[in-house]
Amino acid sequence: MTDTLVKVDLSQSAYDNEMVHNRWHPDIPMVATVKPGRDFILECYDWTGGFIKNDESAADVRDIDLSIVHFLSGPVGVEGAEPGDLLVVDILDIGAFPHNAWGFNGFFSKQNGGGFLTEHFPQAQKSIWDIKGMFTSSRHVPGVNFAGMIHPGLIGCLPDPKLLDTWNRRETGLIATNPNRIPPLANAPFAPTAHMGRLKGDAKAAAAATGARTVPPREHGGNCDIKDLSRGARVFFPVYVPGAGLSMGDLHFSQGDGEITFCGAIEMPGWIHLKVELIKGGMGKYGIKNPIFKPSVIKPAYSDYLIFEGISVDEAGEQHYLDVNVAYRQACLNAINYMTKFGYSPAQAYAILGTAPVQGHISGVVDIPNSCATLWLPTEIFDFDINPGADGPSGGVRGGVPMPLAPDL
Ligand code: ZN
Repeated sequence: MTDTLVKVDLSQSAYDNEMVHNRWHPDIPMVATVKPGRDFILECYDWTGGFIKNDESAADVRDIDLSIVHFLSGPVGVEGAEPGDLLVVDILDIGAFPHNAWGFNGFFSKQNGGGFLTEHFPQAQKSIWDIKGMFTSSRHVPGVNFAGMIHPGLIGCLPDPKLLDTWNRRETGLIATNPNRIPPLANAPFAPTAHMGRLKGDAKAAAAATGARTVPPREHGGNCDIKDLSRGARVFFPVYVPGAGLSMGDLHFSQGDGEITFCGAIEMPGWIHLKVELIKGGMGKYGIKNPIFKPSVIKPAYSDYLIFEGISVDEAGEQHYLDVNVAYRQACLNAINYMTKFGYSPAQAYAILGTAPVQGHISGVVDIPNSCATLWLPTEIFDFDINPGADGPSGGVRGGVPMPLAPDL
């Protein structure tokens, strides 16, 4: 019998559930404690706590208060875990709730969140993806159907006070270099919407004032958005506080490398089945600063790709020095432009890059002045032949419901 340590009720506000939290802080109380070797299940809200609806409007994506994210289940304490250990986490299985078998992908507006290609897609849009067992398809993005590599976008252990202070100092320092930038350079602690789990009263107020936001990946892992942390993967997390304090959420049914649309992959609530072990003193024994992991033995058998190259020369033709970010953006834009020749709108093509098991590779970083990044588009997810040929792009998509678009207010 495997215990479900955290349960969520999707009809209830995540703020009313004391088994979840939306900031990182060492004072957040453990919701349960398990022995090494134990397996257990945690249920999770979607990262927005149910704010995004299965409908034909993107007003929710446009209007969401991004200071509420991410709602994480935990922290789970592990008996005997001490700072310097490695927490070994086996992701035994993950799934959607049968009564809620859908997910969403969206683009935040440039005014509220933005995304990797926000200059090209400045308005809020979204697509809804139906989940049928291990497969997904969308009424808003016709012509594709693929298997999910379900994974938690966000997972890691609680920081100790020193590490938390390091995060807050370096990120507020970055914000100070350009405090009025839209979107912002980073997110500072913000108490009014902090959910600190079971903490109450003055202790809650004090922790909320310095609790780190959950948006970036950091030394402990956190919001890494790695599609390969799927069922069957084994992750080794640094431990900073007694008991470790493992928390997670932001479940993704599927995601392309980079999670470039930011809102986000195919986002969903669901459940995750885990087993934990410890490697005593493992951080020192293996020289670990950031998590390491082993991939799953199971992967969708997509082996054929159409691969788009990008170099570090931006859309305006400006030369950048070995900038991998610029190069990957060009690879993505090249793939989007190509897909429009098969009937997709640019937004639908962008949504495919954010949701499908697309691979991103850093291919070259030494050939001055251009880095080279590649975007690997799996061809077998399409209902038609998307490969180039002498006759031109003959196949393509028909029908479908246009993606909801919300004008900027
Ligand atoms: Zn996500």
